[in-house]
Amino acid sequence: MGLDIAKIREQFPVLNQEVHGKPLVYFDNAATTQKPRSVLDALTNYYSKDNSNIHRGAHALADRATRYYEETREAIMHFINARESAEIIFTKGTTEGINLVASTFGRKFIGKGDEIIISALEHHSNIVPWHMLCEEKGAVLKVIPINEAGELIYEEFEKLLTPNTKLVSIVHASNALGSINPVKKIIDSAHAVGAKVLLDGAQSSSHLHIDVQDLDCDFFAFSAHKLYGPTGLGCLYGKREVFESMPPYQGGGEMIKEVTYEKTTYNEIPFKFEAGTPNIADVIAFKSALEFINELGKDAIKAHEDELLAYANELLLPIKGFVPIGTAKEKVSVISFNINAMHPYDVGMMLDANGFAVRTGHHCTQPLMKRLGIEGTVRASFSVYNSKSEIEKLAESVTRIARIKNK
Ligand code: PLP
Repeated sequence: MGLDIAKIREQFPVLNQEVHGKPLVYFDNAATTQKPRSVLDALTNYYSKDNSNIHRGAHALADRATRYYEETREAIMHFINARESAEIIFTKGTTEGINLVASTFGRKFIGKGDEIIISALEHHSNIVPWHMLCEEKGAVLKVIPINEAGELIYEEFEKLLTPNTKLVSIVHASNALGSINPVKKIIDSAHAVGAKVLLDGAQSSSHLHIDVQDLDCDFFAFSAHKLYGPTGLGCLYGKREVFESMPPYQGGGEMIKEVTYEKTTYNEIPFKFEAGTPNIADVIAFKSALEFINELGKDAIKAHEDELLAYANELLLPIKGFVPIGTAKEKVSVISFNINAMHPYDVGMMLDANGFAVRTGHHCTQPLMKRLGIEGTVRASFSVYNSKSEIEKLAESVTRIARIKNK
């Protein structure tokens, strides 16, 4: 049995609106997903009933807030199948998770002449922290090339691996093209030369079943807001022994065992990496987002999104002037395209006028766009609440826009 999309949509109040006099079609899910009512209610509930600082106060509200906060950590542990909740650190998002690894693991274990490998598909947040580290340490950044379909060339990756490779940091699924990388093979090969592996799970976490034990990655970073949760919140998974080998990230309250004027000793993981008062309300509300996903079932969500992607390909590819960008065999539900030689921003404006929320531009992947020889794309990205009829509307609008230039 498929999902009842009309019923699912009822849980997302934001979807029920018009823009420019047209019903909103929200196809910008790779940028951020909308939030179900249960997440909005959890935020209000927390501030109306439980607001308190956590891990500190010996009073009822503080106890409750602490319990709910730690329950989310447990829920995330199950969601990605970590061994224990101590392997989950709360961050501001994928970006902060990667920066945390660069600043701690990177500063301690990566030195002059050491090598870091990324791919040609990376988001800026998985490029810039490594540039910063390489500049500081004299390390070398290597890039796995891609083919014309936007697929990473695995054989080229094997050639880049050397005994100096200390870290492989790879996007699991590309935000710009949707390509899914063969991360299991990459992790096995990287481990064979003694390198650690970080997966950027910003896009994969919402579409694919994630099992960090099966993947055997050393780090997995993702963002709550791409999983129907609040913005400004993310998680960094790390294997216990790897986290324990790393120095702390920021110094402050909560991350200490003992402080004297002479010296600080640090708390256990995960608290060692969570200095200061965290984003309590959003963490608590994120549990409702995970429950929303679990209730529908990741497999059912993926099946629906795959169906939408296949339908979009079926309707859009035959349109004269429609140029798909990124045609990998394995993809999440993202379709990037251009229309004739029109600027993606112009196409985006015309789609916006018809009620569509799509993303246009370089998608924080400037080197990828350069590799593909384009300035940017229009990106439609589908989520569980999108329907086939919305895709039909998109195909109609794209046909009309393409005709402007095809006349
Ligand atoms: N990596 C990928 C593949 C992304 O798509 C994004 C966000 O678009 C990020 C990293 C950064 O995520 P955040 O801005 O939530 O830190």
